Amino acid sequence: MAYPILHETAILFPVFFVIQIILVTVFFPYTIKEWNKLDRFIMDSNSINIFRQNLLRIIKPVPNSIFGACDSQGVKLLTRLRLGLSHLREHKFRHGFNDTIDPFCPCTMEIESVSHFYLRCHQFDIQRLSLMNELFIINPNILQYDENSLTKLLLYGDNLFSYEMNSKIINASINYIKESKRFDDQLF
Ligand SMILES: [Zn+2]
Repeated sequence: MAYPILHETAILFPVFFVIQIILVTVFFPYTIKEWNKLDRFIMDSNSINIFRQNLLRIIKPVPNSIFGACDSQGVKLLTRLRLGLSHLREHKFRHGFNDTIDPFCPCTMEIESVSHFYLRCHQFDIQRLSLMNELFIINPNILQYDENSLTKLLLYGDNLFSYEMNSKIINASINYIKESKRFDDQLF
């Protein structure tokens, strides 16, 4: 009676073993590598639904998401930030640019992420003061946002706001990007 069980096990064991090898040597490293390419605000999503929405914004951008901004150079720079393909060292390091040996900002404070660029890098304190003043005029409540939400707002606007308000936010964001001069050099 034991023979069929042994026989079945003898067949299944190598199959499971091969699957395990594939998972350990191929699937998990690939998945981790792809995960590490995601932008931080996508990684920090609080739920699966928010993660899916944030991911879809990159894969399938919402039409009119620049809210009428007509500064083509500014829109290009904003789009690069949205896609995680900008001059920022976190982006260049993630994509293996030869001239970027680590993801840290030249200010040495932390990784040069999108939120670091918009909200924390003290190289742009003066430009940030103007940005925050503009946001305060648009809607004082915006300054109460946490850093993750504020970064997303500056990248995409918010569909809860009117078109006109989003237009002002995106233009303020583009002004900040250009005034910082962080993206004036060639990307590569
Ligand atoms: Zn910095």
